[in-house]
Amino acid sequence: MNEPFLLSNLIELQEIDNKIYKLEVDKKGSESVEKLMALESEFNEVNKKIESQKTIMGSYFKDIEEISKTSNSILQKISSINIKLEDKSLDANELLNYTKQKESSQSQVSQLEKKKNIHDRNNEDEIKEMQLLNESLNDVKQDLINTSKLVKDEWMVIDEKLSLYELEKKEFLTNFPLKIQELYDDLKTRGVDVVAAYKLENNQCGCCGVDLTTSELDAISATEFQQCPYCDGVLV
Ligand SMILES: [Zn+2]
Repeated sequence: MNEPFLLSNLIELQEIDNKIYKLEVDKKGSESVEKLMALESEFNEVNKKIESQKTIMGSYFKDIEEISKTSNSILQKISSINIKLEDKSLDANELLNYTKQKESSQSQVSQLEKKKNIHDRNNEDEIKEMQLLNESLNDVKQDLINTSKLVKDEWMVIDEKLSLYELEKKEFLTNFPLKIQELYDDLKTRGVDVVAAYKLENNQCGCCGVDLTTSELDAISATEFQQCPYCDGVLV
């Protein structure tokens, strides 16, 4: 003869479910997870500020880029003149010509350098602000990386525990009569939070907390699985 199935086994199952639920809550809401979320929004915030600072400094960046492009192409020209100047077969005229070209190019580069310095001076405050924003972005990034690692480690520990509880639950549930397994699946599918509980003092349903009348209690005892008419939880 099979051992009679005790509805109180469902309560033990519910206890495993509670532990799983608590771990899932911990997983979503730990201090590190909250810090991670705060850092993510800080990161977006700083990024937004950098974007608007870029807009404010639009013409400065355009000018600087222009200067740097021109300056680079002149520097390239100088290095090709230098190669030509190494040629021992140059006559005096060519030598003079290249040397003049080189001097003129060098003076252009130093003019551009001065122009850049003037731009920098005129935009000193904006440049400083941009530096500060970039520094704080880097700080937040570093913090984000460290906190992500922390969360990952925490989750690994929680996931290990979770899989143990899931296994325990599965083994436990397989030993239940099929009808009870179906009842459990049905209640879970319907989103019943507390599947089974003991009756509380003052005739309250242990699953949903509703006050039950004596006739309701009698009716519950008469049902196949002692289910509360309000929450469908099994009342033991
Ligand atoms: Zn109930």
